[in-house]
Amino acid sequence: MGKTKHGGPMRLPKTPKPGLWVSPVPLGLGKVKPHHIMETAKTVWRNRDNLPYAWRILTQGVCDGCALGVSGLRDRTLTGPHLCTTRLNLLRLNTAPAIPDDILTADTDELRRMSSAELRELGRLPYPMIRERGERRFRRVSWDEAMDRIADKFRAVDPKQAAFYLTARGLTNETYYMAAKTARFLGTNHIDNASRICHSPSKTALKRSIGIGASSCSYTDWIGTDVLVFWGSVAANNQPVSTKYMYAAKRQGTKIIVINPYREPAMDGYWIPSIPESALFGTKLADDWYQVNIGGDIDFMNGVMKHWFEMEKREPGSALDLAFISKHVNGLEELRAHVAGLDWDDIERGSGLSRERIAEFAELLARARSGVFVWSMGLTQHRFGTDNVTQVVNLALLRGFLGRAKCGLMPIRGHSGVQGSSEMGADPFSLPGGDFDPETIARIEKLWGFDIPKWQGDIVGVTLENALLPDDHERRLRLFYTSGGNFLETMPNPDRIRQSLENIELRVHQDIILNTSMLADAREAVILLPAKTRYEQEGGGTSTSTERMVYFSPEIRGPRIGEAREEWRIFLDLARRVKPEEAARSMKAESADEIRAEIALAAPNYDGIQHLRKQGDFFQWGGAWLCEGGVCPTPDGRGRLIPIASPGIRRAAGAFLATTRRGKQFNSMVYGSVDPFNGALREDVLMSPEDAAELGIADGEAVVVHNRFGRFYGRLRTAPVARGNLELFWPEGNVLFPSGVYEPHAGIPEYNTEVKVEQADVFYARKDRKYRTKEAEVPEEDGLPAGAAGAGAQPCRTE
Ligand code: SF4
Repeated sequence: MGKTKHGGPMRLPKTPKPGLWVSPVPLGLGKVKPHHIMETAKTVWRNRDNLPYAWRILTQGVCDGCALGVSGLRDRTLTGPHLCTTRLNLLRLNTAPAIPDDILTADTDELRRMSSAELRELGRLPYPMIRERGERRFRRVSWDEAMDRIADKFRAVDPKQAAFYLTARGLTNETYYMAAKTARFLGTNHIDNASRICHSPSKTALKRSIGIGASSCSYTDWIGTDVLVFWGSVAANNQPVSTKYMYAAKRQGTKIIVINPYREPAMDGYWIPSIPESALFGTKLADDWYQVNIGGDIDFMNGVMKHWFEMEKREPGSALDLAFISKHVNGLEELRAHVAGLDWDDIERGSGLSRERIAEFAELLARARSGVFVWSMGLTQHRFGTDNVTQVVNLALLRGFLGRAKCGLMPIRGHSGVQGSSEMGADPFSLPGGDFDPETIARIEKLWGFDIPKWQGDIVGVTLENALLPDDHERRLRLFYTSGGNFLETMPNPDRIRQSLENIELRVHQDIILNTSMLADAREAVILLPAKTRYEQEGGGTSTSTERMVYFSPEIRGPRIGEAREEWRIFLDLARRVKPEEAARSMKAESADEIRAEIALAAPNYDGIQHLRKQGDFFQWGGAWLCEGGVCPTPDGRGRLIPIASPGIRRAAGAFLATTRRGKQFNSMVYGSVDPFNGALREDVLMSPEDAAELGIADGEAVVVHNRFGRFYGRLRTAPVARGNLELFWPEGNVLFPSGVYEPHAGIPEYNTEVKVEQADVFYARKDRKYRTKEAEVPEEDGLPAGAAGAGAQPCRTE
């Protein structure tokens, strides 16, 4: 852990810098770009029935959107206001009134005709509801009736047949902690959270290389670093205020490099509303782009290292930070030998970039005295996501970009709860303050006062597959308790997910709004439990940002919805109903303050959380830099270079590599059918103009994207995408991805695949004789290994 404290917010220069402008034409007239003023006006209109409360949430609460982190309208990086349209879009979730009773109890088939966006617009869940098998409508029940029914089921099933899941939007550390404790109290280790489909490989890779599970640096390190690299991350879209930090960085001479198959317009230029010159003329963000193939990052980074080792041969010290390596890093010779054995032709073919371009990037980094590497799901959502991230760590270790000012490794998080969820133990490989290992288990058992089950819990994807096991299987999922989460719209292969959801005996959805997954049938019943938002919770709550800043969000005065309850209180209630006598001894916390006091004991990094009580309170665990001075929290204090083999992705002739991207949305919540940055519609398939010309398909023509797993009906849209690659919107594109294929170390599902694209007319003309869809087997020729699906299969470990 670092000793140096965060230096506090920095100031932006007051004078403009026209050299950074996108265009001298004011307000980006004639350009495709978001219209922040109009978006703000729409937010005011949408919240017009509850404006004072909406304002109090914005000015007093901690944002429930992404994990950039802000308390009220202030952050710890820059002075000045911090607000974005993502937060404004989410605001209505907090200010909406209750769903009217007649809609809540409408025929389920009517509700099923609505999209998730339409269901969201209905308002908040006000009461516990139940729908028994065969019933067409939900009916209102009392909290006692709902909780007793759930408790009875918990008592009736083997704990290995019950599982918990928690989303990351808006949940607080207090909720994660109580859920993690309750699951273990009830005897199950099947508990997982939303990081499983976004950043689980980041934690796994960082742990195995340098012993940490979080960002090593702070956002202030972006500002003035020599090189700021965004790897598979469109921070300008997903963490919009990060553009302000990028602007500040550029004002200090930082070079911004983006590595991504698609030249994302949001990272090219952005109109930052809170900076007058940028709001008027825009700011050029990326200085250079490396358009790698989907899944080509490992090859690219191997190429960078190969170039460095060649430079070193000619002139030792010209590429590597040899002093840092000798003092703080193991594994140099193994890595050197591995890279020496690689062939440049393979590297070029895999990465999609020429040797010369790779050398340019390598030399830029070699010249840099400091660097910060930021990455996101372009690296993690692969079946080799942990290896992707490991390569980034390898680069940082070779250049000594760790544990000092303006240097670091940052897995930038998209959900306000993702960082805290695992740190509170809400995943099968973690307990509060540690991994699921004998030492931590013993420590936590002593604190909690009950035995923790010792068997390995399943990740959420395996849990859902366990619902399809034979009835007598010991891990056949019979009871599933999910706080948030809409699996039909987040997991690959939605049809199979539906089968799983319908095959569970009792499903409990604890949430603030309705979503499509809740409407799926169950073998016995579906129960809906109304949750409070983070702003309604008595005693407030905390959440942890990407840069490990733990912010306190107070309870905010305003209307309250029906019988909605604090989420941590619901978990506590459940534990007490299932095992009242034991709970009287072990589940004693009665308030948010008491939970925070317990967290401080359970998770040593969170010592300090017990003092957070009022608006604006915060602390950063671990100090400004983890691994400060290059000393890692590994057994010998050193970082570990790990040779990584190429995943060897090769497209079949005429096929494309496909991946997903986000538009106007917050995770699976879509807020607009048109992408404000490129004008694309949700059904658009982005492809390079050269590939489109080769296929003879014109812009706007109907296409079918297909493979063995499914078909996607869309329209072609040409865009600056690397040749041979294409991008679809998420989650719409999920129909093309196989289920049961997980990254072996961290369990993230595979969200990339090989596809063919045809004009719709051509496809229909020959579909019956030529194509089959959705075969159960994962095809060998797609290069996708069969996943470790099924009972007790444990493909994943946090190393
Ligand atoms: S950038 Fe993220 S943390 Fe900041 S206001 Fe927007 S959604 Fe919230």
